[in-house]
Amino acid sequence: MPIRRLSEDMVNRIAAGEVVERPASVVKELVENAIDAGARRIEVATAGGGLALIRITDDGGGIDRDDLPLAVERHCTSKLDGGLDAIRTLGFRGEALASIAAVGRLTVTSRRRGADAGWAIAVDGGRVSAAVPAAAAPGTRVEVSDLFFATPARLKFMKSERAETAAITETVRRLAMTNPGIRFALSGPDRALTDLPATDGFAERLEQILGRDFAENSVEIEAERGGVRLSGRAGLPTYNRGNAVQQYLFVNGRAVRDKQLLGALRGAYADFIGRDRHPVAALFIDLPPDMVDVNVHPAKAEVRFRDPGLVRGLVVGAVREALAGAGHRATRTGAAAMADAFARRAPMAPAFRPAAPAREPYGAPLPGFTPPPGLAEAAQALFADLPASADIRADAPAPAAADLARPLGVPRAQIHENYIVAQTTDGLVVVDQHAAHERLVYERLKAALGSAAVPRQLLLVPEIVDLAEDDVERLAGRAGELAELGLVVEPFGPGAVAVRELPAILGKVDAAGLVRDLADELADIDTATTLRSSLDRVAGTMACHGSVRSGRRLRPEEMDALLRDMERTPHSGQCIHGRPTYIELKLADIERLFGRR
Ligand code: ADP
Ligand code: MG
Repeated sequence: MPIRRLSEDMVNRIAAGEVVERPASVVKELVENAIDAGARRIEVATAGGGLALIRITDDGGGIDRDDLPLAVERHCTSKLDGGLDAIRTLGFRGEALASIAAVGRLTVTSRRRGADAGWAIAVDGGRVSAAVPAAAAPGTRVEVSDLFFATPARLKFMKSERAETAAITETVRRLAMTNPGIRFALSGPDRALTDLPATDGFAERLEQILGRDFAENSVEIEAERGGVRLSGRAGLPTYNRGNAVQQYLFVNGRAVRDKQLLGALRGAYADFIGRDRHPVAALFIDLPPDMVDVNVHPAKAEVRFRDPGLVRGLVVGAVREALAGAGHRATRTGAAAMADAFARRAPMAPAFRPAAPAREPYGAPLPGFTPPPGLAEAAQALFADLPASADIRADAPAPAAADLARPLGVPRAQIHENYIVAQTTDGLVVVDQHAAHERLVYERLKAALGSAAVPRQLLLVPEIVDLAEDDVERLAGRAGELAELGLVVEPFGPGAVAVRELPAILGKVDAAGLVRDLADELADIDTATTLRSSLDRVAGTMACHGSVRSGRRLRPEEMDALLRDMERTPHSGQCIHGRPTYIELKLADIERLFGRR
C-alpha cells in the first residue's frame, strides 16, 4: 500500500480520541476555556448524559469575529505567549475545540466584551461555516450536540447516560473547587439543578460541594517545603468512604487523578483506616511551573513532578501531622445522623406536642403518638443497665466543672461491660473501651518499637502453641526480629512453637491467639522486607491482643485513666481499623431527640 498523508479531518478525529474520551471530558475542556476567558459565571446544561447536548455559557472575554474560525482550528491558541514553561492557563494545546468538532456538531456563539454584536460559527462533519451575526450577551456560548455521532465505535463504549451525567457532575465539582469566586450552575433535563454561588474562599466552596458534614469532620492542611505549597482539608479517619471518589487533588489549580498522589494520600492514612476504606480529602498542591510537567497526557490528568519524593513526603507528613493534631477527635457524624434520624421520624408536628404537660408524663403514650421504630430499643440499649450498675452511686458527688470541661469529661458509668459513659460540660461521651485501649496499646507499642528493644515479660511456664508446619517455619525464620519486638518464640517440634517471653506492654494476653494471628500476618509480609518496616501491621496484631477485652469490668479510676490517656494520645479518636473509639452526643442533640428543640 502506498503511504498517504492523513486528511485534516482524519488527524482531528485521531487526536479527538485522546482529548475527548467521553462527554465529561468535553465539559472539562469547555469549562476550562470559560475559566481561561475570565468568566465570573459559568452555566453548564446537559441532556442525555451529554451525548445529546452540552451547552456551556460564560460571561468571559469572548472571541472576536475574525478569531472564530481560528478558535475551532487545530493547534490554534491564544494562550502560549510565555512559552511552554510559563503556562498559567488551563488550556494551551489549541486542540480542544477542533477535536470536539471532529466528533460532534459544534456551534460557538460569542460576543467580545465591549463589542455591540455577537457572531456565531458552526462546524459540522469537518465543515466550518462562515461567521454569522447572532444575538448574544457578552461572553461565549458553546453548544455540542450529537456527540460521537460520527464515531459510532466510541458511542458503543459509553456507559449509561446516568453514569455520564454523574461523571459530568464530578468534573464540574472539581473545576468549581479551585474556582470559588466563579458561580457555577449545572442544569438539564437529566439532572437536578446544582447552583454554586460565588463564595469568598475555598473553605466555603468546599462546604457547598461536600456539605457541612465534611467541614465539621475534617482538618485543615497547610504546609510548605522546598517551594511546594500544600493546602486544603483532609477528613478525619473515621469519616471514611467505601470508594475513592471523594478524593480531590489539584496541582496548580488543575484537577488530577495522579496515582502517585493518590498513593501518598493512602499512605498518610495507612494505619488509621481499614484497608478497604478510603479517606475523603481536597488537597491543593501549588509549585512553580518549572517543577512540574503537566504535559504528560491531555486528558488522563496525570502529572510528573521533578521531585516526586518531595511531594509525597509533604503530603504524607502534613496530613499525618494535621490528623495527629486532631488527637482524640472522632467524627461526630454518627451522633448527628442518629439525632437527625430520630428527629425526622419522630412526629414533631404541633398536633402531637401537648400544650400543657401530659398528665402521665411517663405513663400511657399521648393519643396519636406512635413511637418511631427503633427508638425503644435504642433507648433500652443505652440506658437499660444504668440503674442496676454497681458503678453508679446515687450519692456520687457532682463532678467539678473543670473536670467536665476536659474533652472526654468525667466517667460516670460502665455499661454492657464495654461502654464507658462520660459526662462533659455540654453533652455525653460513650467510649468503646476495647477499641480505645487497642489504639492506646498500639501507639505505645509503636513508640517502644521505634526506639530500642521492647521490654519483655518472662512466662513462668512457656506456652506451647500448635501450628501448621509452615507457620512454625515462618515464626522461626523471624524469631530474631520478633525478639526485638518483645516476643520470644522457638520451634517446639515440627508442629508447635514455645512462647517464652511476651512484650510487657501487652499485659495478660492469650499467647496462643496472638501467635496464630501473627503467623497469619507473617504469611502476608514479603520475606524480603523487615518486620520493622511492617511494624504497623505487627503492632496492630499485637495491640488487638493486648487490649482490654470488652466484657471486663473497669473500676472508676481505671475508666478515668483510660479517658485521660486517650486525650493525650494522638489518633486515639479511632481504633486501628478506622472505626471511632468514642461517640459524642451533645446536649443539643439529646434535646432534639426529645423534641425540646
Ligand atoms: P486552548 O484552550 O488550548 O487554547 P481550545 O481549542 O480549547 O484551545 O480553544 C482555542 C481558542 O479559542 C482559545 O485559545 C481561546 O482563544 C478561544 N476560546 C475558546 N473558548 C473560549 C471561551 N469560552 N471564551 C473565550 N475564548 C475562547
Ligand atoms: Mg481549551
